[in-house]
Amino acid sequence: MTGRLAIVGLGPGAAELITPLASETLAAATDLVGYAPYLARVPDRPGQLRHASDNREELARAKQALDLAAAGKSVAVVSSGDPGVFAMASAVFEAIETGTQAWNDIEVIVVPGVSAMLAAAARIGAPLGHDFCVISLSDNLKPWDLVLKRLEAAVAGDFIIVLYNPASKARPWQLGDAFRLIARHRASSTPVIFARAVSRPDERIDITTLAGADAAQADMRTLIIIGSSATKLVSGGKGRRFVYTPRHAELVES
Ligand code: SAH
Repeated sequence: MTGRLAIVGLGPGAAELITPLASETLAAATDLVGYAPYLARVPDRPGQLRHASDNREELARAKQALDLAAAGKSVAVVSSGDPGVFAMASAVFEAIETGTQAWNDIEVIVVPGVSAMLAAAARIGAPLGHDFCVISLSDNLKPWDLVLKRLEAAVAGDFIIVLYNPASKARPWQLGDAFRLIARHRASSTPVIFARAVSRPDERIDITTLAGADAAQADMRTLIIIGSSATKLVSGGKGRRFVYTPRHAELVES
């Protein structure tokens, strides 16, 4: 008997940001597979088995989940945020593409989640209100020169830029280089948001500018939003500062 594999997004951290469909899918699973800190966010259910693995083992984890489903289990692979954004869903399809025939018979569904950029944007206003692009700064799975090429293209297009995976202990210098590249083309007053651990108890959100952005403030739980030429600060209700990008845009030479 062939089982089922659901790739489930858990959102950025807070339980309230898990969708009802994700909760239902998790509750219906016989087996949960995922990185241990993400599995820890899923409420315990008697009889449900948990298979925790290391964060770097994406492909191995995908194969393990497919093997369990091929053996008849109802498996949920968990991912933070949305499973299709720099996360497990691609790893599962890559495994299926190169894997055994038995995996082709498994019913696979992807259950979306609130990606960290959406939760971060909502905290601060509407910085993603117009055309934006999303780039992972990690050069573990692509060459750094490709990251630079994509940053150049994003800057040339005057896109709002969201950076995932901006820094880690093993990748301390990339974000500083990215800021320097962007600052060559964008005003020093361009709003920059550092959003760390959004929706977690230790959430921290800082609004600064391109001139004031300190790459050392970012870690692997941070994402960065860099405004386009139209992104601005506005004072809103109760004296709060918001960042937003208007719904209209003009052609600006970079
Ligand atoms: N699938 C996830 C992204 C995984 S890549 C999603 O859709 O959100 C991991 C990166 O996501 C981190 O390095 C960080 O840049 C970002 N991230 C994940 N959760 C976050 C959170 N709660 N707050 C801020 N950034 C977060």
